[in-house]
Amino acid sequence: MDVSVVIPFLNESPNLTPLCEELKASLDSMNKSYEVLFIDDGSTDDGVEVLEAFREKMPQIKVISFRRNFGQTAAMVAGLDYSQGEVVVTLDADRQNDPADIPALVAKVGEGYDMVCGWRFDRQDTFISRKLPSMMANRLISKITDVSLHDYGCTLKAMCKEVAKRITLYGEMHRFIPAVASGVGVKIAEVKVNHRARTAGESKYGISRTFRVILDLITVKFLLRFHARPLHFFGMPGLFLGGVGGALLTYLTIARLFFDVPLGDRPLLVFAFMLIVIGLQFILFGLIGEMQTRTYYESQDKPIYHVRRTVGIEEDSDNGIAADSKRSPTTKQKKPQPAGTKV
Ligand code: UDP
Ligand code: MG
Repeated sequence: MDVSVVIPFLNESPNLTPLCEELKASLDSMNKSYEVLFIDDGSTDDGVEVLEAFREKMPQIKVISFRRNFGQTAAMVAGLDYSQGEVVVTLDADRQNDPADIPALVAKVGEGYDMVCGWRFDRQDTFISRKLPSMMANRLISKITDVSLHDYGCTLKAMCKEVAKRITLYGEMHRFIPAVASGVGVKIAEVKVNHRARTAGESKYGISRTFRVILDLITVKFLLRFHARPLHFFGMPGLFLGGVGGALLTYLTIARLFFDVPLGDRPLLVFAFMLIVIGLQFILFGLIGEMQTRTYYESQDKPIYHVRRTVGIEEDSDNGIAADSKRSPTTKQKKPQPAGTKV
């Protein structure tokens, strides 16, 4: 299989037939083998029936139907898990992304990029509720993460299979795919893509999404930098606060013992103790984090590194650690898990 197209949808029934028509035209023109994975994220309309009907014209369509709404991120992860193509393309089902852009993205991956992100340079959305928050989020995300792109919110992306199978997402982190992928180590390119106004169905998000994005950003940043060494994160303020507390206490002790200064009415004493206790707690958090990290990696035989290529080493040998770290739909099927899980 050359290309897998992953499309999460929630109540997009009126959009699906025209979308499939556009997909067919675009994908057939590439002369590659492909599959189109639709992930029904708990739709309550007849979307799945519409797709089943279209399968007669386009047998490459596959549908994964969730038991309930798990969110766009979970749907995306399911699509990545089930995909079999060498290149995985993701896009929205609401026809705002243009399937005609797919060949260009796939070609760019063929040039050696691990991930190619769409940039909606002429975005067709309302300004106040969409473009403005998105502009600010884009600035913030590119400042805070090490990946700088123009547009993080664009679902239209293409990535190679190795990356698709390795990135892990939770919450609403699909917009951090480039940042999360950068933790694996990826070569990222950006390609201008077409964006269209929504013509049918309703948008699924309100303005509250902005705040969730900011919270997710904190998680992503923390995990990218410290998740293999939490004690470095918690230990630093711990040592600092504990150190200041210790110094204050030493000073008070010397004042009491050698200069007969009474301590009963000195708030500094309470303050010093507080700093020591808080500092200790930070260090303990860090140590608990270190134990968690070990459980996380060792219980699942996860490597703490990702290999791009090897020379003189058999890829699928029995001790292939790298192969173990990849998710496969078979293990996924054996052990189905609820939300956008797997780490
Ligand atoms: N979507 C989904 N699950 C959800 C919310 C949205 O699968 O819980 C899908 C939706 O059907 C669409 C895509 O995610 O295909 C993007 O949603 P939407 O167009 O509402 O977001 P916007 O374009 O406004 O950012
Ligand atoms: Mg949309």
